[in-house]
Amino acid sequence: MKRRNFIALVGTSIAAAPVWANVYNIQNPIQKAIESTFPELPYAYNALEPTIDAKTMEIHYSKHHKAYHTNFLAALKDSPAAELDLKSLFAEISKYSPAIRNNGGGYYNHSLFWENMSPAKTNPSVVLKGVIEKSFGSVDKFKEEFANAAKKQFGSGWAWLIAGKDGQVFVSSTSNQDNPLMDVVEKKGTPLLCLDVWEHAYYLKYQNRRAEYVDNFWNVVNWDTVNKRYENR
Ligand code: MN
Repeated sequence: MKRRNFIALVGTSIAAAPVWANVYNIQNPIQKAIESTFPELPYAYNALEPTIDAKTMEIHYSKHHKAYHTNFLAALKDSPAAELDLKSLFAEISKYSPAIRNNGGGYYNHSLFWENMSPAKTNPSVVLKGVIEKSFGSVDKFKEEFANAAKKQFGSGWAWLIAGKDGQVFVSSTSNQDNPLMDVVEKKGTPLLCLDVWEHAYYLKYQNRRAEYVDNFWNVVNWDTVNKRYENR
C-alpha cells in the first residue's frame, strides 16, 4: 500500500495531487490555499523504516504537523497576513505575531520535509552535483557540513540546504520553526533540503542520539525533490 487513507486522521476529504501541489503554490493567498485541506503524506507511515519508524511518522504527521496547520489557520483569522502568499509573509514575518511565525513556519517546513524524503534511492542531478561541488568541494563535504549544522543546532530547529540568488548553495540551521525565507534569519534563500531536529522527530527511536538520526537521514533523502527545487528556484 503506497498511500494511506487519512480521512479519519485529519477529518477532511483526501487531498488529490493538485491540492497537495497547492501547498507550494505560494502565489495563492495563504488562507484560501490551506484552509480546507491538509497535505497528504506522500508515502505510508512505515515507508522510511528503519531510518524513521512508523510510530514517529504517524505522530509527527498526524499530530505535530496537523497542529501547526490548525493553529496557523487560527492565527491567520482576522489578520492581514491571510491575504498574502506564504513567501511574502515569510519575507516580512517580523511584523507578525509569534503564533503566525511559529505555526506558519511549522506548517510550511513540515510540508517541505515530507517531500524531501523517500524510500526510493535517488541521487543529485548532474547540475546540482556540480553546484554542490563548487560550493563545498564535494558531495561528501556538503553532507558533513549539513550534518554538523543539524547536530550543533542548540535545542529545537532545522538544518537546511539553501540556494542563494546567485545560484550557489549553502548550509544553515534555524531555531524553532524559522526557515530561510524569513526576514528574521541570518542566512536567507530558497530552501532545497531540510531536516527536522526537534526531539519529536527522532526521540522514540533514537532517544538522545540526534547524531545517529542525522547520519541515517541520508538513506531517505529524496534527491529528485531537491533537484526540482533547485531547477525551479
Ligand atoms: Mn517536526
